[in-house]
Amino acid sequence: MQSAEFTCHVQVNRIRNNQEWFTLTCGSGGCMKGVVREDNNMWCDGCENPVLFPRARLVSENV
Ligand SMILES: [Zn+2]
Repeated sequence: MQSAEFTCHVQVNRIRNNQEWFTLTCGSGGCMKGVVREDNNMWCDGCENPVLFPRARLVSENV
């Protein structure tokens, strides 16, 4: 029995403070719509439901 262990190190060299580098998406049922902040909750316009566990999606940018 062999076991392999991988450790991923992600180093963020540059963080742009004036631009969001990740976006929160709904993530329920494959819904990829962005969520909006409403009061203290997150709201999905696609599902028209509050989002309890939003997913953070990295915004990949090819410069
Ligand atoms: Zn949704």
